Amino acid sequence: STPGGTKVKKDKILVTIRMRPLSKKEQSLKDQAAWECADEHTIVLNTPSQEKSSSSAYTFDKVFGPICPTERVYEEGAKEVALSAVRGINATIFAYGQTSSGKTYTMRGIMESAVTDIYKHIQSNPERNFFIKISALEIYNEVVRDLLKTDSGPLRLLDDPEKGTIVEKLEEETAKDSEHLRHLIGICEAQRQVGETALNDASSRSHQIIRLTIESSLHEYSGCVKSYVANLNFVDLAGSERASQTNAEGTRLKEGCHINLSLLTLTTVIRKLSDGKIFGHIPYRQSKLTRILQLSLEGNARTAIICTMSPALSHVEQSRSTLSFASCAK
Ligand code: ADP
Ligand code: MG
Repeated sequence: STPGGTKVKKDKILVTIRMRPLSKKEQSLKDQAAWECADEHTIVLNTPSQEKSSSSAYTFDKVFGPICPTERVYEEGAKEVALSAVRGINATIFAYGQTSSGKTYTMRGIMESAVTDIYKHIQSNPERNFFIKISALEIYNEVVRDLLKTDSGPLRLLDDPEKGTIVEKLEEETAKDSEHLRHLIGICEAQRQVGETALNDASSRSHQIIRLTIESSLHEYSGCVKSYVANLNFVDLAGSERASQTNAEGTRLKEGCHINLSLLTLTTVIRKLSDGKIFGHIPYRQSKLTRILQLSLEGNARTAIICTMSPALSHVEQSRSTLSFASCAK
């Protein structure tokens, strides 16, 4: 809210596309790259059988091709959003895309660069006192589990009049420095892998949120204290095939491809936010993911979505569906 108490219009969501290289497996199966980055804003479907028509070209804020390093994806697709959190503005960075399109790979690199930048900012602002906390959770089949604890049971969501939805008993650790923060992020990632081996499709079904809470204060000569506090969320989403019912025209849902309530609700919320419908009803309360992220998405919060995709011909339908979600979000 602005000082007058009226809602400000939300900044546009920063939507970028990252296409990974063809994998060894795809190459060995003689799959082909079906997409081409025509320029840094445009991606086109480029198959021999395909007539080049406007329906096969998509434009975005930025399109990153298969040889683009994650550092550049961060610089142009996440940095500005991530650093708004050091100035007290809530921020969320999502990786969205089908399973094996590169969400986890991308999000790891994004977190690495963001941690480096946050500590650079802290060093160049010695007059402010910074305080960073981390928490992490996974949502699997609408059940929330702590990723900082080794044997977390299901956690409940509670409504706090001031803080909004909070996760009861979620562990929060204070990071002593950047090395310690990286160590804690490593623990969350290891925890997630434990779940994955127990059930091998867990990563395609679960959402992971790593949340940094960045607080700072500045003591002025007048005796005033100027404080900031904001959350910075890194969200590695369930595979987008779990929400593909909405884009399923022409493609039959694969057997066993269960719709994921949190992912479906998130896509509805994002579409409404990008329509600028900040006064209308936004169904945050329909899923755990959107309840947990509500305060980090609404109002003046900043949002970046990195949509990852495979270049492979065999995945063209899923990639189209990712690109049409991305088009609605921008
Ligand atoms: P997802 O999390 O979407 O299921 P992953 O991040 O696990 O997908 O990526 C699938 C595979 O592709 C992994 O082996 C990963 O290392 C590789 N990969 C993903 N993106 C890239 C990229 N941009 N460059 C090189 N390899 C990548
Ligand atoms: Mg993954």
